Amino acid sequence: MNDIMNKNPKPISSYFGENLFDAEKMMRVLPQHAYERLKNVIEHGGQLDLETANIVALAMKDWALGKGCTHYTHWFQPMTGFTAEKHDSFIAHGNNGKVVESFSGRQLTQGEPDASSFPSGGIRATFEARGYTIWDPTSPAFVLEYPQGNTLCIPSIFVSYTGETLDKKAPLLRSIQALNKAALGILKFFNNSATRVFATLGVEQEYFLIDRSYYLKRPDLFQTGRTLFGNAPAKHQQLEDQYFGNIPERAFAFMTEIEQEAYKHGIPLKTRHNEVAPNQFEAAPVFEDVNIAVDHNQILMDMMDRVARRHGLTVLFHEKPFAHINGSGKHCNWSLATDKGENLLDPGKTPQSNLQFLIFLVSTIKAVHDHSRVLRAAVASCANDFRLGANEAPPAIISVFVGGLLTKVLEDLAGRRITPDTDEAWISVGIDKIPQIPKDNTDRNRTSPFAFTGNKFEFRAVGASATPSTAVTVLNTAVADALTEARENIGRLLAKGKDFNTAAVTVLRRMINDSKKVLFEGDNYSKGWEREAAQRGLPNVETTPEALDALFDKDALQLFTKHAVHTEREIHAQYHIEMENYIKQVDIEARITRDMALTMILPAGVKYMNNLTSCADGLRQSLGGKHRTVKSILALLGNVAALVDELRKELRGLEVLLTTARSKKDLRARALAFVDAKTQCENVRKVVDSLEEIVPDEHWPVPKYRDILLTL
Ligand code: ADP
Ligand code: MG
Repeated sequence: MNDIMNKNPKPISSYFGENLFDAEKMMRVLPQHAYERLKNVIEHGGQLDLETANIVALAMKDWALGKGCTHYTHWFQPMTGFTAEKHDSFIAHGNNGKVVESFSGRQLTQGEPDASSFPSGGIRATFEARGYTIWDPTSPAFVLEYPQGNTLCIPSIFVSYTGETLDKKAPLLRSIQALNKAALGILKFFNNSATRVFATLGVEQEYFLIDRSYYLKRPDLFQTGRTLFGNAPAKHQQLEDQYFGNIPERAFAFMTEIEQEAYKHGIPLKTRHNEVAPNQFEAAPVFEDVNIAVDHNQILMDMMDRVARRHGLTVLFHEKPFAHINGSGKHCNWSLATDKGENLLDPGKTPQSNLQFLIFLVSTIKAVHDHSRVLRAAVASCANDFRLGANEAPPAIISVFVGGLLTKVLEDLAGRRITPDTDEAWISVGIDKIPQIPKDNTDRNRTSPFAFTGNKFEFRAVGASATPSTAVTVLNTAVADALTEARENIGRLLAKGKDFNTAAVTVLRRMINDSKKVLFEGDNYSKGWEREAAQRGLPNVETTPEALDALFDKDALQLFTKHAVHTEREIHAQYHIEMENYIKQVDIEARITRDMALTMILPAGVKYMNNLTSCADGLRQSLGGKHRTVKSILALLGNVAALVDELRKELRGLEVLLTTARSKKDLRARALAFVDAKTQCENVRKVVDSLEEIVPDEHWPVPKYRDILLTL
């Protein structure tokens, strides 16, 4: 890896994708008939026959051995939101009693890891531990490099014996299928020659980098990924001098190595820069097919974590690692593309292409309107609750921003009368007037959770540590649903003898009127918007347990089952897993809060009290008990003592809430009780942070924000 590092980096294109077994390599090494069959499966779905699988496996093994791989693994994305791998070596007994390297089509296409320790939300009983990993040929296999040896990773889905999904990839693939079908249904009206439509995704990944030595000294950081205590340093982000500022050299060294690793894996990293908060950065790739973009984001996060260690750094993906300064998001830039290279969310140059654009635009708006609660649930997590609505990230109210020009167009469309059955009907409602939307015209509202940015939408509510898969699966499905509805309604009008333009405009108008309450152009951070959103009847769900209720809405169940993205059982499983996850995370945070407060913070306060007591004693002897200095020291002692008392009181309060919460049988009631425990942790924090302000530095048991931030 070192030859492409440092002084004379090679051009990126000279090694881009060298660790990928991609289409180009397959074309080179596979017999043509095998390549054609595989390509057909990749592009149009279906199953690969065993004979072809054997040929592909052999070629893949030879390539992997050439790349120094001794092992292979089905690389998958269980419901934990992380990735999983179980490595097997290529060895098998040969005919001559010696071992040989072998890899069959069956081994390539299917694995059977012991699934008992992955969350399944009750889908798979522990005693029947079987789960299957199944090769996803639409995402290329890759080599994972460790200094000691390499492993061939085969992107896979993970399903139970009964075929239900136990992972984050299978539902995504199903949503991609649903979207393809629905979008092609619309394109038929336009005689568009596309044979495949897919979502494109560009993930902006925000993260913090801190010196690893500080990280290791803070149990809260290494146990929960965030600081549970700490005051803002005097200088943090208020001078607005971080964003796009000079990249510190240590961070730059880390970024460069990450980029080089990423390029080898075919991850097209494009942008790097400082973010708003001190020690906060962003990496963004060029967008890709959504399935690959999600895999790449997962690989990238894993790589970042490992590479950071090599640099004596730690990367934090937590949504809110430090209070008082900005947290981290994962903006999901999303659009729809055809296999002919057309971006369906790009306004066209002719009225006809504008009409097509408007159907996709309005369907996306309708999708967000109809399924905003499920979208909110898809971005819900214990960590993201700290971020949403914290005046730095979009609020928990899901709304859509489209910019002034499109707002006008949509208003015209929704409001104007159209004269039926005339060719000019649709021109008179302004479709001919949409020019190509200049990007910075629409890109200004950074407070919106779901913003149209010229030729794509940007879903900003997704948390930095989350897999983009969950959010995008819901978005794909919701849009598929709206497109299907649009197609059906247009079809109905056509059957009644309407001409296409009139039918399309009529349907569009109805869709806009049905969903216009989700459109909002103003400041999403303002109190006024909260009030207005409430008046409009838009939900504002602040906590994860309440957000997850949406999974039980009738329309959510219908949405997922109708488009075959989730079975009802899978949705219930997902609900259970996410709720349990929330509870466990709060529980862990509460335990660390208590541990640190009792065994680190309190002793520091007591030590200071001791010092002050002996100081006051000494002074009393030399100056007399009535002296001003003695009184002053005693007053200080009183302040510390009061905080120590208060800390114990808040900790007792936490104990009580935790005991109550843990004893609740009903899952939802338990999760809601843990919301209270979480709030109580904040009360503990307030006292600790007050102590931090007066206890001497030398007694303070953990590095402060002042030490950790701005010191890279
Ligand atoms: P900004 O910070 O201004 O929002 P960035 O350049 O950081 O923009 O990120 C924009 C992201 O959007 C990039 O990952 C880019 O590849 C992606 N993007 C651009 N066009 C599309 C598209 N058609 N579909 C999906 N993502 C896109
Ligand atoms: Mg950006």
